[in-house]
Amino acid sequence: MDPVVIIGSGLAGYALARELRKLDVVTPLVILSRDEASFYSKPMLSNALASGKSAAQIASASAEQMAAQLGTRIMAGTEVEAIDTARCTLHAGEVAIRYSKLVLALGADPIALPLAGDAANEVMRVNDLAAYARFRAAIEGKQRVVLLGAGLIGCEFANDLAAAGYRVRVIDPAPRPLGKLLPEAAAERVQLGLAAMGVVWHLGTTARSVSRAVSGLRVDLADGTALEADAVLSAIGLRPRTQLAQHAGLKIHRGIVTDRRLQTSAADAYALGDCAEVDGQTLPYVLPIMQAARALAKTLTGTATPVVYPAMPVVVKTPAMPVVVCPPPALSGSWKLQQDASGIEARFEDESGKLLGFALVGAATARKQALTRLTPPVLV
Ligand SMILES: Cc1cc2nc3c(=O)[nH]c(=O)nc-3n(C[C@H](O)[C@H](O)[C@H](O)COP(=O)(O)OP(=O)(O)OC[C@H]3O[C@@H](n4cnc5c(N)ncnc54)[C@H](O)[C@@H]3O)c2cc1C
Repeated sequence: MDPVVIIGSGLAGYALARELRKLDVVTPLVILSRDEASFYSKPMLSNALASGKSAAQIASASAEQMAAQLGTRIMAGTEVEAIDTARCTLHAGEVAIRYSKLVLALGADPIALPLAGDAANEVMRVNDLAAYARFRAAIEGKQRVVLLGAGLIGCEFANDLAAAGYRVRVIDPAPRPLGKLLPEAAAERVQLGLAAMGVVWHLGTTARSVSRAVSGLRVDLADGTALEADAVLSAIGLRPRTQLAQHAGLKIHRGIVTDRRLQTSAADAYALGDCAEVDGQTLPYVLPIMQAARALAKTLTGTATPVVYPAMPVVVKTPAMPVVVCPPPALSGSWKLQQDASGIEARFEDESGKLLGFALVGAATARKQALTRLTPPVLV
């Protein structure tokens, strides 16, 4: 019998393998990954300094340990170059593997800001453990880090680096950090909270070039400011990895398009995690992956099961100003705020006053469970 093949050993690939093995220990399972396929929790990358972990300590199991735990064959360091959905075969170098079912858990690529300057290629992007190890090596014994992007990942890195004693500057064209997730007043609290621990904001502008300087790097901003840095870390967003699927003729939109059962436009080929666009939604977070893995494991073992997304709050790891956000789906409505010195509770409501999403800042994050219970599911 041809194996179930999973491409990708991130949280999506491994969560699915675990869920599958809870239901079926017999079907042969192969996981291919172009990285070393150790298991690690990616969210730890942006609070590793605070939790006292080196890059090497973040991986909690090697590929060999995972293979033994899951009763699976793991082919690490193997990049899949092509998929032939008609023949149910995939190709990696000289190797061709037939599958009974294929699962794409390919993740997303960090977006690169086009930059001028003779050191533009030294800008770092961290979306996996290997890149994080390189970043940690680059800042070892150094002080000045410039961050491009004040979204969720940029703010988390800013907090972690500042707490560890780095001098952090954050650049973003938006007027506030986390501006896509939070209403203005809530975003301002985050800005002030991080500023209080030393983060310097350069908002409403953008980086134009990164060049070599006498000591380290120089970042020139559109507003004329020049910043000195030992390292520049870019976190301006992610784009689902769709190329492999696109070449295989699968339907692509923002991500690899799947239906509610996580099936792509090809028979016996499924997708989940950061690479997938499930029923129109790309949600690059852990909780949707766990929901998707549970549903897909059932589907792959013979019980067709659509994925259900309950309200899934995202905890932003900025201890300097704690934030929990349950982003409203793109429906019309408005934010209603209750605030005092200790925090902000913001509810996103439609015209009839129905709660669609929320954002909590500071002490109000204690209301996470209560509000999550009141918030409607994202997909039922
Ligand atoms: C710094 C940081 C902090 C985060 N914090 C949080 C948080 O607090 N809460 C939260 O909910 N989410 C958080 N996220 C998001 C969350 O980590 C991701 O949604 C999740 O890890 C994505 O998992 P994935 O398996 O879909 O993708 P990935 O982890 O990117 O895995 C993709 C896998 O596919 C492999 N691959 C890709 N192409 C090929 C190919 N052609 N052949 C073979 N292998 C291939 C890769 O090697 C990799 O193993 C954070 C993300 C980052 C970067």
